[in-house]
Amino acid sequence: RDISVDVAVVGSGGAGLSAAIEAKNAGATVIIIEKMAVAGGNTNYATGGLNAAETSFQKEQGIEDSAELFFEDTMKGGKNINNPDLVKVLTSRSADTVAWLTDLGADLSDVGRLGGASVNRAHRPKGGKAVGAHIAGTLQKVAEAAGVEILLDNRAVALVSQNGSVTGVKVESPEGSYTINAKAVILATGGFGASPEKIVRYKPELEGFGTTNHPGATGDALDLVKDLNVALVDIEQIQTHPTVVPVKNTMITEAVRGNGAILVNRDGVRFVSELETRDVVSDAELAQKGGTAFLLFDQGVRESLAAIEKYARSGLLTEGASLEELAASMDIDATVLAETVETYNSYVASGTDADFGRASMARQLTQAPYYMVEVGPAVHHTMGGIKIDTEARVINKDGKAVPGLYAAGEVTGGVHGANRLGGNAMADITIFGRIAGKSAAEGK
Ligand code: ADP
Repeated sequence: RDISVDVAVVGSGGAGLSAAIEAKNAGATVIIIEKMAVAGGNTNYATGGLNAAETSFQKEQGIEDSAELFFEDTMKGGKNINNPDLVKVLTSRSADTVAWLTDLGADLSDVGRLGGASVNRAHRPKGGKAVGAHIAGTLQKVAEAAGVEILLDNRAVALVSQNGSVTGVKVESPEGSYTINAKAVILATGGFGASPEKIVRYKPELEGFGTTNHPGATGDALDLVKDLNVALVDIEQIQTHPTVVPVKNTMITEAVRGNGAILVNRDGVRFVSELETRDVVSDAELAQKGGTAFLLFDQGVRESLAAIEKYARSGLLTEGASLEELAASMDIDATVLAETVETYNSYVASGTDADFGRASMARQLTQAPYYMVEVGPAVHHTMGGIKIDTEARVINKDGKAVPGLYAAGEVTGGVHGANRLGGNAMADITIFGRIAGKSAAEGK
């Protein structure tokens, strides 16, 4: 029961779905295989936003931004080890991809601030709906309407190649094994954040860390390309997200800090600019007593972000009618905590964080009740991966494109360098997913 298509896409997250739609639009026959029982991968869990510069939504809201500034922020966030050619593509094509997604029916009209960004450029749906599930759901609908079949519970177990050219993929499914013969294969399998074995192999100091990743993020592509001499980049660059609830592994979106929350330690004092990049905030938390911190916000922040209702419903938040009451239930010195908040509120009023230079302070924390949740770092994103060029062709160790093989999304390396900015994954997967789909269909 082997089948033949023009383009076989492995993985149904944002990258795979974007690739499939563009390949189909370019006239190719396309199939997606997905090893899990549901489509969407880690993309379903993305909550921050989709970073883009010079969009119509920014213009409507009077936000001055440019592709150049977005480029600079991304390179700086990535400690300048990012591949600048890939970052150029990311930042210069972002507005077009927001327009494309909007045309497909997505809502990205709300523009907020995430860590490492000089201006508001994290695009997300109005009303606090999480961006990832919204985009994945929209793309899945569009792909299926266009006639792209998504085969769930179908796992790629090997690539088929002839004389170094990829000609198909071997698949295991509940109905048995089969081969998809294809002119092009797109790897869109995501990262390896849910494989403790691979995490420790590439970054031993992350032994024992929790993860925010869906269970399918096991880096299968690294095994699939083993015999093809494929180059890997920045594979040891693994990001921890700084606001993950210990043991439960629930990630609290960066937007809570973006909308005004602060971090305090067990002494009730701030210790970092909360909107620093994820590596900096994670390291700062690990340096505190107990290796974790408390995210603190008020009713004003809660009302500004729908995601917080979900955290409240899940019983993650400790509530206090006053700061004193909250301090008591968290075993924190009430006087110190009150002082911390008072000082912070004065910084919001003056516009300058004299202690840590926090770039954006959305609102004062003055509206009772107040809330706290314990947070610490957990494995979140694997920046490194398979090397691609600006056309999303997979590159081998001799610097040559592997004929018939393309990759996009978290499976690739080079876009984010040593540290991914919040909001840049959604941009990466949609922009490079689109490019991979087009390149694969055109046999570039
Ligand atoms: P991205 O954000 O780069 O699109 P995601 O994690 O959202 O990545 O999606 C990757 C998808 O690929 C997940 O749904 C995952 O289950 C799927 N996947 C991973 N490995 C395989 C495999 N060997 N065969 C089929 N699907 C896979």
